[in-house]
Amino acid sequence: MYFLSEAERMLQTAVRDFARQEIAPIAARIDHTDEFPGELIRKMGELGWMGVLVPREYGGGDGGAMAFVLFVEEIARASASVSVTVSAHSGLTCWPIKTFGTEAQKQRYLPALAQGRMLGAYSLTEPNAGSDAAGIESKAVRDGDDYVLNGRKLFVSNGSVADVVIVFASTDRAARARGISAFLVERGATGFTAGRPLRKLGMHGSPTAELVLEDVRVPVTNRLGEEGQGFRIAMQVLELARILVGAQSTGIAQAALDAALGYAVQREQFGKPIAEFQAVAWMLADMQVGIHASRLMTYEAARLYDAGSPTTMAASSAKLFGSETAMMATGRAIQIHGGYGYIEDFPVERLMRDAKITEIYDGTSEIQRLVIARELLKTVRD
Ligand SMILES: Cc1cc2nc3c(=O)[nH]c(=O)nc-3n(C[C@H](O)[C@H](O)[C@H](O)COP(=O)(O)OP(=O)(O)OC[C@H]3O[C@@H](n4cnc5c(N)ncnc54)[C@H](O)[C@@H]3O)c2cc1C
Repeated sequence: MYFLSEAERMLQTAVRDFARQEIAPIAARIDHTDEFPGELIRKMGELGWMGVLVPREYGGGDGGAMAFVLFVEEIARASASVSVTVSAHSGLTCWPIKTFGTEAQKQRYLPALAQGRMLGAYSLTEPNAGSDAAGIESKAVRDGDDYVLNGRKLFVSNGSVADVVIVFASTDRAARARGISAFLVERGATGFTAGRPLRKLGMHGSPTAELVLEDVRVPVTNRLGEEGQGFRIAMQVLELARILVGAQSTGIAQAALDAALGYAVQREQFGKPIAEFQAVAWMLADMQVGIHASRLMTYEAARLYDAGSPTTMAASSAKLFGSETAMMATGRAIQIHGGYGYIEDFPVERLMRDAKITEIYDGTSEIQRLVIARELLKTVRD
């Protein structure tokens, strides 16, 4: 793409080659078995792919949002579920530790996370608090040099396989959002347990788990940011996460177009390739335009993010448009495949199942529309 720097183009090519060789061939197997691809993640750690967002001094690739967007898009094009694992690890864990962590926290976690020796997760959602994240009920009570955490967290990507989880809990419930704090909780902490991965429509192989906290003692030194700063951290992380969902959706939609295009030129009916029927060609054209727009919106949001400019509107727009485009493109890809699109031997039904969650997590489409409308109204009122 014309406005990528030389370094960005090189990164894109390197990830694309890696994803084609190492991830795409096992994507269907990951989907069928629903097993976490631990060996692949270990290999990605050795190659430095788990530390794209980690600063160089902690052994990472020193990339920003733009670099990571290129990375996530290519991984998602090969396997959407692997892109969830790396996004939750890098975007939702490495990035907040790098941004809000103390020097001791960075030293302890970032090198290990960058090399894939540790896997990260981010745990905000609870059974009674999804879209209304400020309503979380998990509690953290200060006791000497520790906090004691109690509660239940839900839908945690990487939750059952993570070594360190950023857990959000309330230190002052009456203060709602202002009373939330963030904690780095390590696997193996007494009272900290993960449930079995939940069975899902798609994104198989990306374990989504419930976490239970029963009198878990977390040292004060493992609080991320100040007491009461947790919600602000959570929202800043979500802004990056929404851009990453834009990238993920673009990758899924592109994979759908790749498959549909390949099929449409090869499948013949009425004596000619179905691509020559205008109805099919127009579906391909609509997919192409949607994907291009979704990619541009995502790249723009990433550029703004790296420049330190406000990204609320751009991030929500990229996520909303990208995820709806992914649903449109995967649906059309199935349509173009006819009956074959509906069976598991072809990749497009998996792509559609994987695409659906992009309209739900990191803020549903309804929440994105709320955010965009709120930002829009500000421009009239200010
Ligand atoms: C596979 C998967 C992975 C996930 N990974 C993570 C993770 O790693 N970490 C994490 O913390 N969370 C994670 N989540 C949770 C996810 O972010 C939430 O599911 C999502 O934010 C929606 O919350 P909810 O499911 O409670 O739905 P609800 O908030 O109950 O929403 C239900 C419906 O009501 C609508 N709605 C709610 N409020 C409003 C409103 N004000 N206006 C209009 N409509 C509204 C919603 O749009 C939706 O259609 C994950 C979820 C899944 C399924």
